[in-house]
Parts: sequence; structure tokens; C-alpha cells
Amino acid sequence: MAKTIYVDNAATTAMSDTAINAMTPYLKEVYGNPSSLHTVGQVAKEHLDEARAKIAKLLNCEPREIYFTSGGSESDNQAIRSAAVNGAKKGKKHIITTAFEHHAVLHTLKKLEKEGFEVTYLNVHPDGLITAKEVEKAIRSDTALVTVMFANNEVGTILPIAEIGAVCREKGVIFHTDAVQAVGHVPVDVKAQNIDMLSLSAHKFHGPKGVGAVYCRKQIPLLTFVEGGAQERGRRAGTENLGGIAAMAAALEEACANMTKNSEKEKRLRDRLIDGLLKVPHSKLNGDRKQRLPNNVNICFEGIEGESLLLLLDAKGICASSGSACTSGSLDPSHVLLALGLPHEVAHGSLRLSLSEYNTEDEIDTILKEVPRVVEYLRGISPVWESLEKGEKPHLI
Ligand SMILES: *Cc1c(COP(=O)(O)O)cnc(C)c1O
Repeated sequence: MAKTIYVDNAATTAMSDTAINAMTPYLKEVYGNPSSLHTVGQVAKEHLDEARAKIAKLLNCEPREIYFTSGGSESDNQAIRSAAVNGAKKGKKHIITTAFEHHAVLHTLKKLEKEGFEVTYLNVHPDGLITAKEVEKAIRSDTALVTVMFANNEVGTILPIAEIGAVCREKGVIFHTDAVQAVGHVPVDVKAQNIDMLSLSAHKFHGPKGVGAVYCRKQIPLLTFVEGGAQERGRRAGTENLGGIAAMAAALEEACANMTKNSEKEKRLRDRLIDGLLKVPHSKLNGDRKQRLPNNVNICFEGIEGESLLLLLDAKGICASSGSACTSGSLDPSHVLLALGLPHEVAHGSLRLSLSEYNTEDEIDTILKEVPRVVEYLRGISPVWESLEKGEKPHLI
């Protein structure tokens, strides 16, 4: 079988050698518990402090504003719940978000709605963006939190975070951003971008799975999320995942040091894919072409099912993703594509290719050869496509 072409880096990335090398000492030599008072423990504590300082510097905040977690989902849960609970103490029970957030955000908010909070879901424009003005208009005197993702994981659009942050700061509303797709990929600076709380996850930038962090500006109270010991300044109990944390710090340092170089390469590969795949008739790029992550391609092909496309590409060694929630066993198209206003029929035929700096021009050549072939094959056996071609139904794209 042909070599695997992995273009699903928005789902997870392979660990870099740098991250692996940073992690291995903790599997053997540096095994101490950072809470222990003896030398072995104190050495571990020093390593933990170093990793925290490294990550803080890369985000432009103080080490004590970084709290380690098990990943993006936990960070989102903790940040949003904290802001909600603290808001409620002041009688503020309104939250603003967008309709196309990650489920870690949306499901937390759904739960808060059941607990008596009111949530405004801002509509996303067809280009996958919202404006700071729209956020400003939605802010009320009882708004406790605005949570808007930095970059969307499906359509790759980069939101105007600094502007939204400025609006929130001016109105005195806490601003959280799920920056899981952005950190390590595009410049993130919590001070310059007026961010109060931010979620990140190591496995989206060549670090290990199961480790992440939440940044919480020091003036803002963070709720204790796991009860127990005094780790993470009392906000999250449990012996630290030191190997994971050190690997995350190393991976982030490497990603930030190489950001310009990596994103130039990814943009070149991305743009070849977009230009090449849009030559397929009745196809459409989802998400703004310019305000876009360097590694994201998301295209709809009319008249086919994304799942079938994925399975046939997988058989050819190409690992991609579709917008549809096929893994959950549901046949509903992605809430993200629907939020962009795509009709169900069109949203079903989506393909997401998310790159990393490890992808090559040769791999792009293969994808550009195989995808149009598979789309043509699937259209050939699709009753939907047949009725579109016969003119029984109008083409939507
Ligand atoms: C992957 C992802 C998450 C979840 O992160 P985990 O570390 O897998 O829990 C949250 N938000 C976005 C935007 C993501 O892409």
C-alpha cells in the first residue's frame, strides 16, 4: 500500500522529535513528584516551573497565569464555568458566543443554560467570520462572559480576536478564547490581543495528547476544577503530568520559533490544494480565503457524501476529515457548516484537509490527482448528482 498521507492535523498532530526528546527523561530519570520536599521532588518542581515559564513567555503572560490541564476540552470547561460562576455572584448570567464554536464550548454553555444562564449565539457570516461590532452590540449590563474561538477548527477562519478583546475590555466583560487551533500556528499574544482567558492543547502543535493549559489573567478568579491537593495554585488538584507538560513547552517553543517558515510552507501547499480542487465543477471553498489558518482547506463538492469520499480516500492512503459528524453515528452535517449558512445537501459533501509542515509537495500532487477522481466516481453513482445533471433540481453551488 502507498505511504500514508496524513492531512488531518486539525484533529491531532504527530509528536515532533523535539517533543519526544523533551518527554523521555520524565519516563525514567526525572520521576519525582513536584510536591515532595526532598531533592528528587524539588528537581521535578524546578522542571515544572521551567516549563510554565517557557509557555508564559511564548504567550506573553506571567508564569502564575498559566494553569496546566488535560487539554483543550478541560481548559474550555474550566474557563467558561469559572467566568459563569463568578458572573452569577454579581447577578450577571448572560454569556455571548458564536454558533460555530467547538463542542467543548457549546456543550458547556448548553449545560449552563439548563442551570439558568442565558446564552446569545452570534450568527456567523457565510465567510466564517464575525465582527467585533456584533459582539459589542450583544453585550448587556448582565453579560458575564464573551467566549469566541481564535480560529475555527473546521473552516479555518481566524476571528478578529484583538478587536473583540478590546471591546470586552472597554465594557468590563471577561473575554475567553478557545485558541486550540491558533496557538503554535499564528501569533498569539494575550496582552496585545486583550485576552483574559485562553485555552490551548499540546497535541495540536506536535506535542503529546492529554495535556494543555488555560491562561487566566491574574486579576480574574479561576474556579477550582478538580478538588484535592494544592497543585496549580489550588485550581486543579492532581500530581502534574510533568513529561507531558515539558513536551508541550518544547513543542510550543519549536512551533513559535519556526512559525514564519512553517506557515509559509503550509500556505503554499494549502493554496495549491485550494486552487486545484476548486477546478472540480460545482465545488466551493468554505471559510474566508484570506483570514484563514495557513494549514486549512475545507471544500464542498455538490452531489456526494463526505463520508464516502473519506473512506475512498482512506483506501488510497489519504487521511482527511469531513465536516459531517459521522463518528458520532449521526447523519447531521457539521454545525459549523450549517452556521455558515450552507444548505444541508451541500454541507454533506465537505472535505477538510488540514496540513502540517511535515507534508510535502509530492503529497499535494497525489491529493490533487486522487480527490477529483474519487469525486467523479462518486458523482457517477449518486442519484442526487443524476437529478442535478438532468436539471430536475437546481445546482446550489
Ligand atoms: C481539538 C480542539 C479542542 C479539544 O482539545 P482536546 O485537547 O482534544 O481536548 C477544543 N477546541 C478546538 C478548537 C479544537 O480544535
